[in-house]
Amino acid sequence: MPAVVDPEKCEGCGDCISSCATNAIVMEEDKAKVKPEDCCECNACIDQCPTHAISMQG
Ligand code: SF4
Repeated sequence: MPAVVDPEKCEGCGDCISSCATNAIVMEEDKAKVKPEDCCECNACIDQCPTHAISMQG
């Protein structure tokens, strides 16, 4: 289950990008987006996001 960003909650701060060990998160149109093929499912971005925009989804 890779991480998924809820674009309604993402404020585009970029904190999750620096928390990601596998560079799986990119910014698209001022919203974070997880590349599922690169996500190692470590939960680091979930802990980092100040708006709780990231979760693990199937
Ligand atoms: Fe968006 Fe959260 Fe990532 Fe910031 S840490 S860019 S609010 S998903």
